[in-house]
Amino acid sequence: QLVDIGAVVLEAVDRVRVAAEAKSIDLGLATERDLRVFGDGELLVTAVANLLTNAINYSEARTKVGIGARKVGETVEIAVTDQGQGIPAAEQERIFERFYRVDAARSRATGGTGLGLAIVKHVCANHGGEVTVWSEEGRGSTFTMRLPVAAPEVADDGDPAADPPPGVAAATGGEG
Ligand code: ATP
Ligand code: MG
Repeated sequence: QLVDIGAVVLEAVDRVRVAAEAKSIDLGLATERDLRVFGDGELLVTAVANLLTNAINYSEARTKVGIGARKVGETVEIAVTDQGQGIPAAEQERIFERFYRVDAARSRATGGTGLGLAIVKHVCANHGGEVTVWSEEGRGSTFTMRLPVAAPEVADDGDPAADPPPGVAAATGGEG
């Protein structure tokens, strides 16, 4: 169904607020209005919350975590940025694999299983999108989810509610 991305982001932020406050991490929010995708709102909240949880877990106290959503062409971009420890270039592909963690000793302290990013990747793929990472060690990371927009084209007769939504099948395309 149609999912409002602003609402998804707010719900995800709500789920990590306590963890952020415990580390005095400042959560900055910048989302455009009226961003919609077709899909499962609950899964999208889980994916965004996983990215936020990582940003908080792998950052020092009193740093900043930002989350933003915007439309770029026919894509909704949801980006989570932190000022944390970063991820070595050689590991950046593997972190999306199930159970993969960059540094077992370091990660043990945060008590995860290594599934968070694998879930994000699957949720994005199931919505016809993708997730990518930019990161620099010692500087921080940005994870970006890209999903096809579901906003109807602006109707020339000025009544968008009367127009049928664009086809979901056409938007997700075929994989051959
Ligand atoms: P889980 O999410 O299942 O609780 P996890 O956080 O270890 O456990 P993932 O979310 O899949 O698992 O992340 C995999 C690994 O990628 C992490 O263990 C960590 O080493 C690295 N990582 C993920 N996000 C970040 C980040 N924002 N900054 C630095 N390293 C990260
Ligand atoms: Mg995680």
